[in-house]
Amino acid sequence: MMKYSYRIFRLFGISVELHITFIFFLLLISVLGLPSLIFFISIFLIVLMHEFSHSLVAMGFDIPVPRIVLTPIGGLASIEVPEDPKKEIVISIAGPLSNFVLAAIVYAILVFTKLPLVGYWTVIQNFSTGSATIANPAFILSGMLWVNLMLGLFNTVPGFPMDGGRVFRAMLALWMDYIHATKIAVHVGQFIAFMMVMVGLLQPHLWLILIGVFLYYAGNSELQIVKIKHSLRGLTVGNITVRDIRHVNESTSVGDFIRLIARPGQDYYPVTEGSGRIIGILGIEDLRVVSRADLDKINVRGIMTRGFNVMDARLEAEKVIGKILGSDFLLVVDSDRVVGYTTPESVFEAARFHTIKGRL
Ligand SMILES: [Zn+2]
Repeated sequence: MMKYSYRIFRLFGISVELHITFIFFLLLISVLGLPSLIFFISIFLIVLMHEFSHSLVAMGFDIPVPRIVLTPIGGLASIEVPEDPKKEIVISIAGPLSNFVLAAIVYAILVFTKLPLVGYWTVIQNFSTGSATIANPAFILSGMLWVNLMLGLFNTVPGFPMDGGRVFRAMLALWMDYIHATKIAVHVGQFIAFMMVMVGLLQPHLWLILIGVFLYYAGNSELQIVKIKHSLRGLTVGNITVRDIRHVNESTSVGDFIRLIARPGQDYYPVTEGSGRIIGILGIEDLRVVSRADLDKINVRGIMTRGFNVMDARLEAEKVIGKILGSDFLLVVDSDRVVGYTTPESVFEAARFHTIKGRL
C-alpha cells in the first residue's frame, strides 16, 4: 500500500516518509508562493506531531512502529494495534489529545503576549491565497491554534478508521468480539464517509471528498484484515506458507527454467548459487521482460530480484499479518532452513480455507 514513499528522516527509530502524491502536492502548493508553502508545511508538521503521539504511546506498549507516511490527506502511522480495547483507546486518543494540548499552549501564549486572536477564515484565506505575511506573529500563532483545534476535532469524529472511530470500535469491543465491533464501526464509518463526500460535493470541497472516499475503502480493508486475523487464529506463519517449492540455480537459462522448473501454483522461485545459498528471487512476473529470442541467452540471475525479506515460520500468523499483506513476497525460514514463502494471495487462500474448515 505504501509503495512510492520516500524517507526524509528517522526519529525515535521511526522512518518518516513522504508519499509521492504528497511531493506533487507540495509542488502544486509552492505555486501559491512561499507563505502558503510554509503554512502547509507547518500543517503537516502538526500532523506529524499527531502521528508521533500515537506512535510513541504504541511503542510504550511494545508495539513496533516502523514508519509514518505523509499523504496529502493526512498522516498514516503503521501501528499494528493489538486486539486489546484499552490499549487501542489510549493509542487512538493520544493523537487528537496532542492537538488539543498544543492548541491550549498556543492560546496561553496569545493571552500572555496580548496578541489578538485572528479569526479562522481570515487565517485560512490569507494563507491559501498567498497574501499573508509570515512575519506576523499573531497570524502564525492563530493559525497554529486553529489548525490544531480543527485537526483534533476532525479526528474525534467517530468515522472508523479515524481516531474517533477507533475509540468507538474499541468501546464496542469491550462488550462484543472484535469482528462484530469492527463491522458496526465500519458501517457507521462508511455512513460518515458518505456524508463527507456529499457535503464535499455540495460545498464543493475537494479535500473532504478525498477523505470521504479514502475512509470508505480504508474501513473495508480493515474489516477484511480483522476477518483474516480471526480465521488464522492459533496458526503460525509456517501453517500458511506455500511449501515444497522448487529452487532454481542462478546459471539456469530462462528457457530451461520455463521448460523444466516453472509450474502453475508456484509464483516465486528462490535463486541459488553453487553453494546452495539463496541470492535472489525469481517471480513469474519477471519473465515478462524476456523476449522469445532471448530465452536461451539470458540466465535467471539476469532477471531475478536481489532484495527479499525473511520471516520466521514459528511466529504467530495473527501478529504479523500486516507485514505479510504489505509484502509481495516473504521467504519463510525455520531455524535457518528455507521452508517456503508467503504472498498476500497465499494468505487470502489460507484464510478462506481455515474459515470454511472452522465452520465444520
Ligand atoms: Zn490520529
